[in-house]
Amino acid sequence: MLSKLCPNLYVDSLHHIQLSHLKDIGIKGIVFDIDNTVTMWGSKEITPMTLKWLEDAKAHGFRVCLLSNNRKARIDDISLMLDIPSAKGFKPFTSAFRSALSLLGTSPQETAIIGDQIFTDILGGNRAGLYTILVQPMSTNEFITTRFLRRLEKTVLRRLACRGLLNREDCDLRNPTK
Ligand SMILES: [Mg+2]
Repeated sequence: MLSKLCPNLYVDSLHHIQLSHLKDIGIKGIVFDIDNTVTMWGSKEITPMTLKWLEDAKAHGFRVCLLSNNRKARIDDISLMLDIPSAKGFKPFTSAFRSALSLLGTSPQETAIIGDQIFTDILGGNRAGLYTILVQPMSTNEFITTRFLRRLEKTVLRRLACRGLLNREDCDLRNPTK
């Protein structure tokens, strides 16, 4: 069970993810969580740095989509702002990730999920066979249920680190030599 909670890569933020690394390991599609991954929870402001990273990803030929558990109206607004389509479904259910893969037209092995939550983004992504990337949440503002889950996340991260599964820079279980 613990391995299903372990991200393949664990970085500070989107900006610490090398697009060339994703290309090197055969990634063609990227699924993005919204809240606290590309924008702060409850905010519609996208920083110029984040915007540039997303534009670079598109320019490098990656197929991209959003997958969020937030309200449809909020997801639609962000989707419109970023000009990135959104997949339907609720994480961590595998059906949500299947919907994203179908939107992107990529296989699980060719697809990465980037998100800030272990029990939704990472667990769901690992179960669906995607390359999972955990980022640090952009802010501490979030749903009350998420705040509760953060305590559990800390315990999981500690256990993963103790077992040598979690490398802060590179917890690449698919490519352990990288
Ligand atoms: Mg999030």
